[in-house]
Amino acid sequence: MKLVYEISRPGRKAMEIPAGDCPGVDPAAVIEAGLLRDELDLPELSEVDLVRHFINLSRRNFGVDLGFYPLGSCTMKYNPKVNEDIAALEGFTCLHPYAPANFSQGAMRLMYELRAYLSEICGMADFTLQPAAGAHGELTGIMTIKRHFENKGETRSKLLIPDAAHGTNPASGALCGFQIVTVPSNAEGGIDLEHLREAMTEDVAGLMLTNPNTLGLFERNIEQVADIVHGKGGLLYCDGANMNALMGIARPGDLGFDIIQLNLHKTFSTPHGCGGPGSGPLGVKVPLVEFLPVPRIIKTEKSYVWSDEYPKSIGAVRSFFGNFGVMVKAYTYIRSLGAEGLREATEDAVLNANYIKERLKPYFDLPYDRTCMHECVFSGERQVKESGVHTSDIAKRLIDYGYHPPTIYFPLIVPEAIMIEPTETESKQTLDDFCTAMIAIAAEAKENPELVKSAPLSTPVRRLDEVLAARKPDVCWLK
Ligand SMILES: *Cc1c(COP(=O)(O)O)cnc(C)c1O
Repeated sequence: MKLVYEISRPGRKAMEIPAGDCPGVDPAAVIEAGLLRDELDLPELSEVDLVRHFINLSRRNFGVDLGFYPLGSCTMKYNPKVNEDIAALEGFTCLHPYAPANFSQGAMRLMYELRAYLSEICGMADFTLQPAAGAHGELTGIMTIKRHFENKGETRSKLLIPDAAHGTNPASGALCGFQIVTVPSNAEGGIDLEHLREAMTEDVAGLMLTNPNTLGLFERNIEQVADIVHGKGGLLYCDGANMNALMGIARPGDLGFDIIQLNLHKTFSTPHGCGGPGSGPLGVKVPLVEFLPVPRIIKTEKSYVWSDEYPKSIGAVRSFFGNFGVMVKAYTYIRSLGAEGLREATEDAVLNANYIKERLKPYFDLPYDRTCMHECVFSGERQVKESGVHTSDIAKRLIDYGYHPPTIYFPLIVPEAIMIEPTETESKQTLDDFCTAMIAIAAEAKENPELVKSAPLSTPVRRLDEVLAARKPDVCWLK
């Protein structure tokens, strides 16, 4: 396929721009040199060329509206279209962030109520909606923890993180200046309590835990974990990116967590990927509320108002108020499902993951064989030993069968990991079709390993040199 610049022909136009309505003004006199349209070397295309170019491009992409997308940990659930309808209401899309509070009451009420819903779902005292993604919520959370100990006059330099953690966890801790101490997992995929007891000293700020963890397993000893951390004055942080496994069933606040970030774009259904948009609200218990970012919305008798009067706040972490469009979608999702619906979504997500786990268990190694939560993690080690077919080959072959590959080689503690998250939005039919494809690939790996190793065979490009693409990206045709 050609680049849009390569199909450009001088003089072609997709639309006519109206004549300027400021007679006597010379554009060249008011627009900076080099920025006039004629000088920019923009592609020139007719409308039909333009439409075909972008439709063709879109057909080489894959999205959750096109097929099953079992990318573990990423929660690529189907996003109900009613979310888009509501987020597109003019009252929301035309509202300028500088509009005064008395013109923005509806939007402010939505944010205020969303904070309350999230607090209720998680068992927290309050939320900030500012962070723009999960990792940004983590960073805000660690800044909040740091401020909490500064405020108490305590110096704590370390942060504990399990070896199964998402890579953003140690990164968020390190960015805030903490020394990261890794806690190993035990044989059943949970936290090793002996190690935790040893590592949890009085110079440790706390433990950052994903529950269910990245193996898709619920931390059975969560109450003991909380006691150990709190016993030394530390705080228990929950990476709640995968709240779709607990929502409506268990509240992290009740399990002993002090602080949690959510990924609205995952659990609460916003299309995501390719870098955005996201939203990573941060929830905290009472002792931490005063450190949350400003400005904050407060409800007075007559209206919602913005307040900066939190002197101990860590300050603003995002321009304006966060990614508002994502908040509208999450709000719509919560209101349209209701409490019952949210609980059912969780139950179905867990059921679907366990169904896949049981159906594929005879064909792929399952290193932690116990009831899983929203996702299950297999290992491709059997296939490597039997025929030299690696997890990456299996993932590429799935593309030929019409599926987006699962997450692979994560979590790092599972060799040749294959991490499958079906989400609650998929039917039994879809899950069965996917399992049939996985079973067929397991058979191909035995009988015709070269075929699997040369996949994908059906795509516009075959295997890309990912190292070269990362080291020497060629992103701009205009030199
Ligand atoms: C997705 C995810 C994150 C990071 O969230 P982003 O929105 O991509 O920054 C962190 N932790 C876990 C467990 C995740 O699944």
